[in-house]
Amino acid sequence: MKKILYLFLPVSVLIMTLSACKQEVCADCEAVHWEYYGEHGAEHWDKVCTDYAPCGGQAQSPIDILNATTDSTLLPLQMSYQNSQTNIYNNGHTLQYNYTAGSYMTLDSQRYDLVQFHFHAGSEHSIDGNRYPAEVHLVHKNAATGALAVVGIMFKEGDENPLVNQLFEKLPKEKGLYYRSSAEFNIMDLVSDEQKYYTYSGSLTTPPCSEVVTWYVMSKPVTASYMQINKMTKLFYSNARPVQPLNGRTLKMSI
Ligand SMILES: [Zn+2]
Repeated sequence: MKKILYLFLPVSVLIMTLSACKQEVCADCEAVHWEYYGEHGAEHWDKVCTDYAPCGGQAQSPIDILNATTDSTLLPLQMSYQNSQTNIYNNGHTLQYNYTAGSYMTLDSQRYDLVQFHFHAGSEHSIDGNRYPAEVHLVHKNAATGALAVVGIMFKEGDENPLVNQLFEKLPKEKGLYYRSSAEFNIMDLVSDEQKYYTYSGSLTTPPCSEVVTWYVMSKPVTASYMQINKMTKLFYSNARPVQPLNGRTLKMSI
């Protein structure tokens, strides 16, 4: 009898462990609350639920931008940005500014519509190991293929940025809320005249981390005042995924 118990116990423990694991892999990712730290933090995203498995992939973002190869064939970014009305969504991780339809970027003769932009503080990408206080992501989508082109712009402390004041004037304070107004702005005001950029193939930096993004990280940061950066740090408290390995991907720099 004792022998049987000894045998039975480890088997039952094994079955219990297996069923617990099964529950951890949740089929419905909508129900999973991901975070940057802790149990559902960035280190575990690929195991939080099945749809987030790409987070453990080989072509993930952000990266540390280091030893980029200069490519003289890379053209300046062709942005055609119109004014947008104000439509801000608080998704619980960042403030997402949905852009009024009609603005786009042209890449290889293909149109990528500017869909939204949002903020991270501190920056997600680093350049030569240096992180910046904040980074904005301009998300463009090719309607035909679904491919994404995201422009990353770094903030450094310096002169006050008039557009930042306008963007943060009135905000949806809680997760799930919107703030809408007819007040117009143009995100082109945030793009530096210096158009040199780094480009590589990567992913969304939040779950499901889909590897469908061509990244364009502008080499020159734009400025925001100490107070403005302070506000961004408070608003977006550490919503930055750690840098991911390059895994042999090509990292190019325009001239
Ligand atoms: Zn982002």
